[in-house]
Amino acid sequence: MSENLNLFTSTQDVIKEALTKLGFEEEMYELLKEPIRMLTVRIPVRMDDGKVKVFTGYRAQHNDAVGPTKGGVRFHPEVDEVEVKALSMWMSIKCGIVNLPYGGGKGGIICDPRTMSMGEVERLSRGYVRAISQVVGPTKDIPAPDVYTNSQIMAWMMDEYSSIRENDSPGFITGKPIVLGGSQGREKATAQGVTICIEEAAKKRGLELKDTRIVIQGFGNAGSFLSKFLYDAGAKIVGISDAYGALHDPDGLDIDYLLDRRDSFGTVTTLFENTITNKELFELDCDIIVPAAVSNQITAENAPNIKASIVVEAANGPTTAEATKILTDRGILLVPDVLASAGGVTVSYFEWVQNNQGYYWSEEEVNEKLLEKLVSAFNNVYDTAQNRRVDMRLAAYMVGMRNMAEASKFRGWV
Ligand code: GLU
Repeated sequence: MSENLNLFTSTQDVIKEALTKLGFEEEMYELLKEPIRMLTVRIPVRMDDGKVKVFTGYRAQHNDAVGPTKGGVRFHPEVDEVEVKALSMWMSIKCGIVNLPYGGGKGGIICDPRTMSMGEVERLSRGYVRAISQVVGPTKDIPAPDVYTNSQIMAWMMDEYSSIRENDSPGFITGKPIVLGGSQGREKATAQGVTICIEEAAKKRGLELKDTRIVIQGFGNAGSFLSKFLYDAGAKIVGISDAYGALHDPDGLDIDYLLDRRDSFGTVTTLFENTITNKELFELDCDIIVPAAVSNQITAENAPNIKASIVVEAANGPTTAEATKILTDRGILLVPDVLASAGGVTVSYFEWVQNNQGYYWSEEEVNEKLLEKLVSAFNNVYDTAQNRRVDMRLAAYMVGMRNMAEASKFRGWV
């Protein structure tokens, strides 16, 4: 089975288990086991060499019983249909956990923006919006940034959508630049959310963030801001990595220096000779591990060798189902992706609210509201895990599925 198919079917398994534990019938699972809508599009783009290249893109909408669907668009060579579907299901659960009035959505385009010019990326972004414009909109489905997409890409997409609709539509997309209706704090929101979860998890395990030894896999948007927050809080970042390798220093890496040297895709290890592999990174002596890169990183193979007592999933799907079981059985506190990475969509929601009301908040106000939402989400999931004697992932799905299932019932869909 392909890795993505594995992720998708294991997500279905947890959804089924969560719905059963919540007392819903089989019919509810039938409704929620797949997205209600999945659009595949082909996007012709004139490349800089004059030739046309046709890209494949997707937009999945999992369930819109609670409200419009919401979720990012990823640009990556390994995007495929089944991954986008799974990601849209995770978005529903994230929104449910933090109690946002949204269902989950996700988009993706098979491409490698690292090898494309700005002009090519712009034409691709605009072409994608033209191709999906019928199924998206501020009250239908609201895209956002994800892997290898950023505020500039959101700006092009918003501009294209506004010109198709012939009115200014900032609420069509979140993660925009501030001058176009973006929210203060959105760029750092995912990392803020992960930091809040790390602080809460550390409290449960009696650890002080100061002097805690942390390993972070990935130096992209989430990984880089996160390493900065934790470093400034006095933690020792003993390992970081990017797509090409990893760096290790038992006395703590100089994060400010590394941040200064990283490129816009988060690459920094290529500047060093003394690197270790991503595999070695997971086996380092440390207290907390944060996978903040891609999926399927902690597996049955390396889970037994992890030395940390807390694993906080900042990426989507970094731990396989078998590895989740191994970590839980070993007494490691696993903070699942659908909870730990919910900070991004939470501030996206704040951005959409600000766009709808046309009145904007300060960064302090945004951060205060984010803290309140995530601390209560963390404790809700933690308490559910304790009270129902289930692992943190199943508890998160139980908390995250409830609104969606109830809303589907009230609407008379099930
Ligand atoms: N792509 C981010 C996620 O996976 C953010 C989604 C959003 O802001 O809507 O949560």
